Formats: sequence, C-alpha cells, structure tokens
Amino acid sequence: MGLIVNFYASDKAKEKGKTFNAFTVCALSNEKLNPPVVSDYRGQLFNKDSLLEFLLNKEYLKNERFGHITSLKDVVQLNIKLDGNKLKCELTSSEYDITSTVLPKFAYVVPCGCVMLKKNLLSLLSSTKPGEYAITRCPICNTEFFSRDVIEIEPDEDELRILEKRMKLLETEGLHHSLKARKRRKSVSGEKSAKRSKSKSAKP
Ligand SMILES: [Zn+2]
Repeated sequence: MGLIVNFYASDKAKEKGKTFNAFTVCALSNEKLNPPVVSDYRGQLFNKDSLLEFLLNKEYLKNERFGHITSLKDVVQLNIKLDGNKLKCELTSSEYDITSTVLPKFAYVVPCGCVMLKKNLLSLLSSTKPGEYAITRCPICNTEFFSRDVIEIEPDEDELRILEKRMKLLETEGLHHSLKARKRRKSVSGEKSAKRSKSKSAKP
C-alpha cells in the first residue's frame, strides 16, 4: 500500500515539475519565490533571505552548485513585479501566470536589476552589432547599462555559454556580477605587487 502511495506521490511531483521554473521557487531553498529576489550571473533566482542565510553560514564552501556566490556583490537585487503567481512586465504592463508552460522569456539588466520581457529588452539593443558593447538606458529606471549586462532568467545552453563568457571577462576586469569591484585577494601576483610597492617605498 505504501508503495502505491509513493508511486502516486512521485508521479504527482513529476507532473508538477512541468510547471517548475525559475519564477516559482528559490533555487537555493526550493521555497516559493517571494520578493525581495536576487539573481546570480547565471540568471538563477533566489529569495534574498535564503541567500543571506547561505552567505552567513558560509555554505558556498561546501556547495559546488552555488560556490560562485560568496558575497552580496555576486548577486543583483531584482526590480521584479512578482505577486503570488502573477508576474508583470513593467515595460509592457502585461501580466503572466508563472505556472503557465508557455511563459515567455524574461531578462534583467545589471546593475539596476529591472526585469522585463527579453524580446522587448533586446529590441532596444537591436542596432548593436555582435561583439559590440553599446550603452543604453534602462527603459524602466533610466540607469545606463552595457548590452553585455543583459542576463536571461533561466538561460538555455547557448545563453548560458555567453553568460559564462561575460563572467570570465568581468573577473579579468576585477568586477563582480553586480559590477562592483572585487577586493584584492592575496594571490601570487598580488603578493608580488605588494613586495614591489614595499621595496619602492623602502628608503635606502
Ligand atoms: Zn532599470
């Protein structure tokens, strides 16, 4: 009898799984997504409370999947209009049911975190040539942003590849996903430059 119940339960979960998307659950806690919401460079969504707890407990040390989030600078707080199961695109004022299987793609802009329909956001950048980083103003809050700083929510494989590339580039520029500057860590090169400046300041 117990087996049958389990079978049904897992089947139900599978059925439910169809409507699972980034907007329904916090990727960290699996709890219902509820603003304030933050997102990493991979377009995953988290409840801010769950993320703060994650940081506080230093869970990134033992969590491979989210090991890239070690500070609040690794996430952006989203300006998202999410109320229960209703998600609103502030740009077009259209409302969507997040449990729908035909939910269109959404994206957000760094640094302001405004969430809108991806196709509308991309149409703003349509004159940008591939590889070119155009500066545009966010149509919702008027903050300037680079075309490379558009983050798809729940990206597909190709989009994720581009997001990974973006993150690597930011790292070489000494920036976090949020575009805030990284603290200088004691790396090999860091020690070298520290020694250099020491010897410079040392008087004969
Ligand atoms: Zn904005």
